[in-house]
Amino acid sequence: MSTDNEPSFRESVNMMFNRAVALMDIPPGLEEKIRVCNATYTVRFGVRLRGQIHTFTGYRAVHSEHMEPVKGGIRYASNVHQDEVEALAALMTFKCALVETPFGGSKGGLCIDPREWDEHELEQITRRFAYELAKRDLIHPSQNVPAPDMGTGEREMAWIADQYARMNTTDINSRACVTGKPINAGGIQGRTEATGRGVEYALQEFFRYPEDVAKAGMEGTLRGKRIIVQGLGNVGYHAAKFLSEEDGSLITVVIERDGAIHDEDGINVEELRQWIADHGGVEGYPKGVYVKNGASALEYECDILIPAALEGVINLSNARNIKAPLIIEAANGPVTAGADEILRAKGTVIIPDLYANAGGVTVSYFEWVKNLSHIRFGRMEKRQEEAQHRLLVEELERLSADKGLGWELSSDFKDKFMKGAGELELVRSGLDDTMRTAYQAMRKVWHERDDVEDLRIAAYLVSIERIVGSYRAKGL
Ligand code: GLU
Repeated sequence: MSTDNEPSFRESVNMMFNRAVALMDIPPGLEEKIRVCNATYTVRFGVRLRGQIHTFTGYRAVHSEHMEPVKGGIRYASNVHQDEVEALAALMTFKCALVETPFGGSKGGLCIDPREWDEHELEQITRRFAYELAKRDLIHPSQNVPAPDMGTGEREMAWIADQYARMNTTDINSRACVTGKPINAGGIQGRTEATGRGVEYALQEFFRYPEDVAKAGMEGTLRGKRIIVQGLGNVGYHAAKFLSEEDGSLITVVIERDGAIHDEDGINVEELRQWIADHGGVEGYPKGVYVKNGASALEYECDILIPAALEGVINLSNARNIKAPLIIEAANGPVTAGADEILRAKGTVIIPDLYANAGGVTVSYFEWVKNLSHIRFGRMEKRQEEAQHRLLVEELERLSADKGLGWELSSDFKDKFMKGAGELELVRSGLDDTMRTAYQAMRKVWHERDDVEDLRIAAYLVSIERIVGSYRAKGL
């Protein structure tokens, strides 16, 4: 539990933003324009279920429209509130700028515990919510493109896409109104795993620089590193799976709702995930030691801590006790501004959320481009495919030059793309390339500027600089 003097999530993001802009030379008016959330739409709608009308409250916050469409997930959780979606929308703005996906920032939420409803009921609720948002262009291929977040997944995105298509029968681009869809509804290979995969790529890139690793008091590679993962949801599960199966790391602790499992020999992530699916929690898992007070396990000895669930889990009440020398924020906002200060003073290295979990929106961008281009990767005759891909690459580069977006597609990516590499391979190499490039931009600022203490501020600096560039280009 956090303490009373803890700022709200929104305040926390503002504090981090303010710390960065204090090091920049931006006119105060523009600084304020970038900080504030442009608009938040609140909707209350009724759905007749189980013989009576149930009223649901939902939100869609639009933080910044310096680029459109705006982008960001829709979260289903009983305690979703305006402050939270606005904080998350702000993070989307900074995240997209950092990894150069050409979107503004948005986020949505619905106050609902999805476990309390059957699938057909969730479908009715989701379709009605989608209708309310789409009617106000808060779901729209060129204006606002949602995606999955906590409590939602490809199933909900398929309902949203279908609802939008029914409302816009003549829109040939309707599939691009939402990302994170199932493959057979216009999705892209590798989207579900993308955020976790991005966390893996981020860590791989970090460990390529011995001087960065040394800042966290470590050496060597990911092999043998002991990792605590908090939350074995979509993001935590994929990150833990890839790191243990492909990088030789040991997942020593997994923290879930009902407690934690601790095993210094390394947890088999696949097995534990299956156990949770079958038993509803980690309790009773036959290997390792069960720890009832899961949160206390955040404070265990390890090399890397991966908070991959809710915001605010590392706060003023536990920051001093965190032993991990390296934290990678797979969740959005898991470290409060107060905790961040304590950890910085201790020398903990934090790979910040706006970078660490950007894999999701990066692959969402690939999906959106795929939907708009109407190309079914891998289905065309090889030469025709190559020609189409070449055209698409040229078009992307022309767009970038025309709009001054500065995108650079790496030669490796272009090569694979033009040769018609399989979609999954393409997505992975594009994601890896994005994570590497963004880390390099961030670390350059971290190492070159004496006034930049940490990677988070470096990330904000790179990102805000780009947003300022967009506003200036618009003449604002
Ligand atoms: N909900 C994810 C995030 O927080 C993905 C957003 C997206 O793909 O638009 O970044």
